This record gives sequence, structure tokens and C-alpha cells, in this order.
Amino acid sequence: MSAIPRDPSREGPLGSYDVVVAGGGPAGLAAAKATADRGLSVLLAEKHQAFGIPTRTSGGSFIADLQRLGIPATCTIPSRTPA
Ligand SMILES: Cc1cc2nc3c(=O)[nH]c(=O)nc-3n(C[C@H](O)[C@H](O)[C@H](O)COP(=O)(O)OP(=O)(O)OC[C@H]3O[C@@H](n4cnc5c(N)ncnc54)[C@H](O)[C@@H]3O)c2cc1C
Repeated sequence: MSAIPRDPSREGPLGSYDVVVAGGGPAGLAAAKATADRGLSVLLAEKHQAFGIPTRTSGGSFIADLQRLGIPATCTIPSRTPA
């Protein structure tokens, strides 16, 4: 992937990034990682003081996704919803 052409009419600190992501929730974090993995520079802006605050999870996730992220099985408690 090549860098996105910069608009010379846009000046300021944001103009020095290929991509600016607003919001450090799961979607924003995934978008920022995917961008950085492709060699583009990215600014991830979160309006709160830290990512993940306030917490927006009860702890439920899909096991396949956790495995893909390298989360050890010792960190999860498998559960199935009754059919
Ligand atoms: C009580 C509760 C429990 C939940 N439990 C689970 C669970 O167990 N498992 C699960 O998979 N999902 C759970 N969810 C759902 C999960 O939280 C959402 O699906 C997920 O957070 C959506 O991610 P998102 O990145 O789209 O949005 P968000 O998580 O809402 O992230 C958006 C981010 O953008 C930031 N933002 C907004 N406006 C701006 C701005 N102008 N500038 C900069 N930053 C900005 C916000 O502060 C926020 O951090 C739960 C939700 C709730 C409310």
C-alpha cells in the first residue's frame, strides 16, 4: 500500500500523518494497528485521558478472536450459550 497523497492546502500537525483516527475504542485501535502494519503513519486521538477508560466490556469475547490475538487460554473461561 502506498501513502495517501497529502493535500498541500492542509497545514498543521495533523498534516504530518497519513491517517488520523478519532477514538481509541476497539474499532479505532484496530484501524490504527491496521494502518501502522501497512507502514503508514497514524495518529490515534482519544478524548479521554487513557485508552480503555471508561471500561466498555463485561469480559465477553469470541474465543477464536482471542486466540488469533495470542491471548493465552489460561486467561479465558470458555462458556457456551444454551441453544
Ligand atoms: C456495559 C457494557 C458492557 C459490554 N460488554 C461487552 C463484552 O463483554 N464484550 C464485547 O465484545 N463487547 C461488550 N460491549 C460492547 C463494546 O463495548 C462495544 O461493542 C465496543 O466498545 C464498540 O467499539 P467502538 O470502537 O466502535 O466504540 P467505542 O468503544 O465507543 O469507542 C469510541 C471511542 O471514541 C472516543 N471518542 C468519541 N468521540 C471522540 C472525539 N471527538 N475525539 C476523540 N475521541 C473520541 C470515545 O471516548 C471512545 O473511546 C459492552 C458495552 C457496554 C456498554
